[in-house]
Amino acid sequence: MEFTLDEMRVHLATLEARIAEACKIAGRSRESVKLVWVSKFHPAEAVENAISLGATDFGENRVQEAELKFSEPRMAKDGSRVRCHVIGPVQSNKLKKAAIVADCIHSIASIEAVEKLEKVCAAQDKTLDILFQINAGEEETKSGLDVHEAEAFLNQLAEKAGTASADGKSENFPHLRFRGLMTIGKNTGVAEDSRECFAFLRNLQQKFFAKGGAFAKFDQLSMGMTGDLEVAIEEGSTMIRVGTALFGERDYSKPVNDPVL
Ligand SMILES: *Cc1c(COP(=O)(O)O)cnc(C)c1O
Repeated sequence: MEFTLDEMRVHLATLEARIAEACKIAGRSRESVKLVWVSKFHPAEAVENAISLGATDFGENRVQEAELKFSEPRMAKDGSRVRCHVIGPVQSNKLKKAAIVADCIHSIASIEAVEKLEKVCAAQDKTLDILFQINAGEEETKSGLDVHEAEAFLNQLAEKAGTASADGKSENFPHLRFRGLMTIGKNTGVAEDSRECFAFLRNLQQKFFAKGGAFAKFDQLSMGMTGDLEVAIEEGSTMIRVGTALFGERDYSKPVNDPVL
């Protein structure tokens, strides 16, 4: 059963208390952490409820589901357009659709994908924010760049990008902004187990942010989910991706495949 609006309001308050406490411990402002509402496997009505509670950013794993819910522009309560984040791995043949529906893709892990996205975004005349997914938890099942290859990958990317202006748009990828790194923590059920990989991500992001050029806007760290968001905030996360704590348990037997708009 989906949460009612009132239930969601209560869950949001509980979550905001967790975020506030973690920000306090870390000496950070609440504004420095963006909440991305992960609406995968939840219907459009749940998205509408979330928007009425002030949600501005949503995360979806699958491109088709993102299209169903976010192809038509939605307005947030603050008057801005709701933003769609694609946070799951995107197959090469779905990159075009992902680039069209998304404002930000968190899960890029190859130069080929970057090149393809630039072409699509140029044709669409749009600027897309992208993050690179690092398999910092070093788990076989998780996608993303290997930790041992991440630095070489980013150096190679900088070389391919050519010169860049202060807005982070480079000579060779003028429709993309490299915004930072994303990871999924260790799925052990113990939040502390993710601290090391979150710290690794922060160090890598800061190192490249300091280089400027194509990394002039490389200021984002997408890390932390329902189970480990406090540790992620303590380690510098700027975007937490939260599903279960806001929408409840996902019912994987009922994928959202029907047109719901
Ligand atoms: C599903 C998902 C989330 C949300 O996880 P919860 O534990 O429900 O908060 C966050 N990030 C990614 C990449 C996901 O696939």
